[in-house]
Amino acid sequence: MLRVAVIGSGPSGVYTAQSLVEQEIVPDIEVYVLDRLPCPYGLVRYGVAPDHEKIKSLQNNLRTVLEHPRVRFVGNVEAGAPGLGVEELREIFDAVVFCVGAATDRHLGIPGEDLPGSHPATDFVAWYSAHPDAAATRFALTARSAVVIGVGNVAVDVARMLSRAAAELAATDMPQGPLGALADSRVEDVWMVGRRGPSQAKFTTKELRELGSLPGTEVLVRPEELALDPAYRDPAGLPAVARRNVEVLRGWAERPNGGGAPVGRRRRIHLRFFLRPVEMLGDAGGVRAVRFERTAPDGSGGVTGTGRFEEIEGQLVLRSVGYRGTPQPGLPFDEATGTVPHTAGRVLAEGAPLPGVYVAGWIKRGPTGVIGTNRPCAKETAQSLLADAATLAGRATAGDPVAALARAGQRPVLWPGWLAIEAAEAEWGQGLGRGTVKLPDWAGLLAAAQAADTSR
Ligand code: NAP
Repeated sequence: MLRVAVIGSGPSGVYTAQSLVEQEIVPDIEVYVLDRLPCPYGLVRYGVAPDHEKIKSLQNNLRTVLEHPRVRFVGNVEAGAPGLGVEELREIFDAVVFCVGAATDRHLGIPGEDLPGSHPATDFVAWYSAHPDAAATRFALTARSAVVIGVGNVAVDVARMLSRAAAELAATDMPQGPLGALADSRVEDVWMVGRRGPSQAKFTTKELRELGSLPGTEVLVRPEELALDPAYRDPAGLPAVARRNVEVLRGWAERPNGGGAPVGRRRRIHLRFFLRPVEMLGDAGGVRAVRFERTAPDGSGGVTGTGRFEEIEGQLVLRSVGYRGTPQPGLPFDEATGTVPHTAGRVLAEGAPLPGVYVAGWIKRGPTGVIGTNRPCAKETAQSLLADAATLAGRATAGDPVAALARAGQRPVLWPGWLAIEAAEAEWGQGLGRGTVKLPDWAGLLAAAQAADTSR
């Protein structure tokens, strides 16, 4: 018998569990998928925007894996907490795979970054996604102008959510607070700003194009700014995604109405490029603008400063410049990349594999790629683990893992607890005259899970 703990129940964790049980090399295997939250699915539940229902429906595929007879979901367990470090986990499980993602945001390191009204985009995402750690977060959306720094898919998500009308989101599982804030939003202009050119933007084409079809919102670009990018003028040599992005932007630039928003549009999304943030301006009362330096292409994919500056008004600033992995207690960590050093998923400590300890997903390869990128990544790690199975099986000594986790001070929420949360969210939504609505705080989630405990 090989008993494996997968830490994290987002796509990388669930795909790792799937690769571990859907194979015939080690048939006698049990996989425990642990999560700090009482809810599974990681960023599919707490990162994918509520209006991306098709991507959200991936939860159904992940659910099938978590309901596999050899897989067990164990929520509300914090790996790395006192009494549950790597050593203790290795007493409970023969092998441990960390699929903990990239839990924090990158910093800009510019003056004024922490002024009131300037937030990491991840805080905004956590708020509208009802992440229980963000239960105390409030975005009043009283700003007239919002600046989103960065041109990746998270930037597109937050720009889109700032532009949506509450009525368009009422059918989603978004919690009541953010829905009400969007209904009262005074945001008219959303500026999404990249430090490099349009051909180097990180967003994908489907996501970019979607901005152009938002009801009541106009997307504005500046043809002369786009044309500063040599690859915009001649996109033939670009990779496919960048080329398609450039085509979408060109389509917007060449619209007959030029840059003017048609009458009747409530909101405008301005896509700007070659502007590097250098300072947030404002005072204790809040941010009022972002100061950017105009940049110019350096000929090798980067940019250089030009010494010319521009201010963009913004009473709300969302810094969407990427995620970053955090050090895991007891694991080596590469500060430069924010990842755990590994070879084919085997964690490396001072160059040698740490027996029985593995990584998959963003903590392994950094916060890049779409959900599907996790599949081959998880498979590689699972194959390494399975190849090591003979040296690992039977090493754990702690007996029943759930009981051992409880002895280590955790209060595990098992699959019936999660199903009870789902039922409570459906009931809560029904009471509000909506579909399922997420419970936004720890107390509500744990009370709902408790209902399953007492009814068993
Ligand atoms: P990302 O794709 O890495 O984009 C980060 C953006 O921030 C880039 O435009 C980057 O510009 C910019 N940036 C970084 N440091 C900066 C600085 N100091 N000043 C100004 N700009 C800076 O990160 P993300 O948007 O957080 O997305 C993370 C991953 O999740 C990506 O793989 C993304 O595709 C994925 N995701 C996918 C979806 C979807 O499929 N719908 C939704 C959300 C997220 P440079 O390029 O110049 O560094």
